[in-house]
Amino acid sequence: MNGNNTFFKDNKPIVEKINSIRWEALKKRIKYGLEVIERPISFWIKEDRLREEIGKEFTIILRSKGCSWGASEHGGCSMCGYYLDAVNEEVSTTQLINQFDYAYNNKINEIKQDPHNYIFKIYNSGSFLDENEIPQEARNYIYEKISKVEKFKEFVIESRLEYITVEKLEEIREFFDKKYLEIAIGLETVDDYIRNNYINKGVVFKDFKSTLQRLKEYNIGVRVYLLLKPPFMNEQAAIDDCSQSIKKLVELNVNSISINPLNIQKGTLAEYLWFQNRYRPPWFYSLFKCLKKSLTQENLKNLRILSDPSGAGTKRGIHNCLKRECEISAKERLKHFVLSQDLSELDQNGYECTCKKKYNLKKVFD
Ligand code: SF4
Ligand SMILES: [Zn+2]
Repeated sequence: MNGNNTFFKDNKPIVEKINSIRWEALKKRIKYGLEVIERPISFWIKEDRLREEIGKEFTIILRSKGCSWGASEHGGCSMCGYYLDAVNEEVSTTQLINQFDYAYNNKINEIKQDPHNYIFKIYNSGSFLDENEIPQEARNYIYEKISKVEKFKEFVIESRLEYITVEKLEEIREFFDKKYLEIAIGLETVDDYIRNNYINKGVVFKDFKSTLQRLKEYNIGVRVYLLLKPPFMNEQAAIDDCSQSIKKLVELNVNSISINPLNIQKGTLAEYLWFQNRYRPPWFYSLFKCLKKSLTQENLKNLRILSDPSGAGTKRGIHNCLKRECEISAKERLKHFVLSQDLSELDQNGYECTCKKKYNLKKVFD
């Protein structure tokens, strides 16, 4: 896949470990019944940052047969447990359309009556542009429906690089002439070594740059996912890696960067290391440090920074000392920063916890 085999020879033991963890987790998983396949994994509406304003997101997560990279002999990414939500069998085009319709019909009236503008996101815990996950007929059905809703000012899908081909871009452009489109790419870091040896992503930066160029030619925006604190990294290394990545992506003029602090998902190598006390999810302080270190307010005129961490404030997600007030205050700061895109929100006086001192003295770095 992707012709980047040079990156796989070093991390054979990691791939073997990922594969054996996945195999064990899949054996224990309950098999999904037919009725589950007719419904999406989930869907919701919530406040979100649009390009020019604060608005709302309508997100649908489809249940597909799962990420092809994750199902391949390469084992998938070391922090990704999405394969447990996948069906692992064929999901027909009709079933995918039924899942979409179920969520769409449930929310569309509320959306049309809402005074806010919306961003529409559709994910499938893999690549929306992979024909094996979401066939063309299902994609086109969704494009057709979404393109007609005036309220949706932005449309976001996600895909691995290898599926972002000229044909797929031509196809999407046929349906959308006015809406702002963004394709989200899990680059995770600009560092090829970290990405391919610690995360097992199977993606090289040079390919990302050519895809970025191609997307610019089609006037399609790029949203990059960065992973804060991949497995095998300590707090300081994680801050450095993430700030270098942000700086590089600012130079390359990407449209949005979404920072995902690692959260411990079930059935992953990250969970295995965490159980053994060899990994701790990042501190909120590190995320804030990284943002302040790598960005200026000027940068945020042309770039949107997003972060809506899963499991935030819990032991499996980004957290500080787990004291309730400390976690709530950190989550609020992050949310206000994302909604306003104003870096000074990260310094707002709120609850100051004693754990900050310990953190600053590097007594907590692991
Ligand atoms: S993180 Fe993305 S590319 Fe990696 S295994 Fe999960 S769904 Fe696939
Ligand atoms: Zn604290």
